[in-house]
Amino acid sequence: MRCSACGNLESKVVDSRPSDDGTSVRRRRECLKCGNRFTTYERLIDTSFMVIKSDGSSEAYDRDKLMRGLLIACAKRPISPEQIESLVDDIESSLRSESKTDVYSKDLGSMIMSRLVKLDDVAYVRFASVYKHFNSVEEFAEALEELNR
Ligand SMILES: [Zn+2]
Repeated sequence: MRCSACGNLESKVVDSRPSDDGTSVRRRRECLKCGNRFTTYERLIDTSFMVIKSDGSSEAYDRDKLMRGLLIACAKRPISPEQIESLVDDIESSLRSESKTDVYSKDLGSMIMSRLVKLDDVAYVRFASVYKHFNSVEEFAEALEELNR
């Protein structure tokens, strides 16, 4: 964080508190060079989650990637980009409320699908087919079963 007075990049945090909705942090900082105090509002970054894949490897959660996948699944369906945004927001805040730092890929998929199924059946099946890659007939059947619950 650049000092607002002298431009120095090094500062220390003297006070830190989350915003009311928990999506950002307000920090009072003190410049280590000139002692100027300034306030920053830092949005909690969405990449603070690690997604653990079925093969055990992990990658940083990528909101844009998830949004792209959902937009493809919802193409030409009566779902607005705003609805997709709020679905993703909902998942992120749910993970945050549990103070999760990592999430299993399949759990993330389930979270998405359980929300998507309420929005649109076709989008749900499309997303499920992409997400699960339908490695087996059983997986496909499972996804369809979810629909009938
Ligand atoms: Zn300074």
